[in-house]
Amino acid sequence: QGVVIGVEALVRWQHPERGLVMPVEFIPVAEDTGMILPLGQWVLETVCRQLAAWANWPQTAHLCAAVNVSVPQFRHPNFVDMVVNAIEATGIEPSRLKLELTESLMADRMEITIQKMGLLKSLGVTLALDDFGVGYSSLSMLKRLPLDQLKIDKGFVDDVLTDPNDAAISRAIISLAQSLGLQVVAEGVETQAQRDFLAYQGCDQFQGYLFSRPLPIEKLEAYLRDSASVI
Ligand code: CA
Ligand code: CA
Repeated sequence: QGVVIGVEALVRWQHPERGLVMPVEFIPVAEDTGMILPLGQWVLETVCRQLAAWANWPQTAHLCAAVNVSVPQFRHPNFVDMVVNAIEATGIEPSRLKLELTESLMADRMEITIQKMGLLKSLGVTLALDDFGVGYSSLSMLKRLPLDQLKIDKGFVDDVLTDPNDAAISRAIISLAQSLGLQVVAEGVETQAQRDFLAYQGCDQFQGYLFSRPLPIEKLEAYLRDSASVI
């Protein structure tokens, strides 16, 4: 319907000498050094503060913001407490916070993963499975996870109009999600034709360059003001 319903937080590093450093460079280092934990906490708290600020403005009060959660961050014994603290400190409506988890969490320690996701779900946060279809997919486990959304990986969306296999996989993911009662988000949507094809297949939500490139917060707020005035 052309309505902005949410955003995904993407982290960039504005380095004093090297300029803008992309996550593909610094996230692996952060994971190797353990810096991923304070970094992940900072992202989570920053997003919750942003949601709290948006709650005061009618044009943005409905928005969700997604946070990518790394495996070491999710596995940390204090992760659920960290989420509780971030929600309580900012007073946000928990469902506005979306945590994006990856299939690699399903590779082992499944019972702990399910239990922890259940705790997060009981807080009211939204849970999405990111990059779906590229990793370790266990369909029997999938139905046990308290998820709200599946995100179709960009890799399938890229060639959805030209590669019959990608089209078939996208269709299969959408119908799988529908039969499990989950919403589907297609990521990496770059053209109107991709969006229309996926919408025709039953995809609910879309993100990607078709709508906007990643923006710093000031530009995002200007974008939201412009798109709100269009509607
Ligand atoms: Ca993501
Ligand atoms: Ca993704």
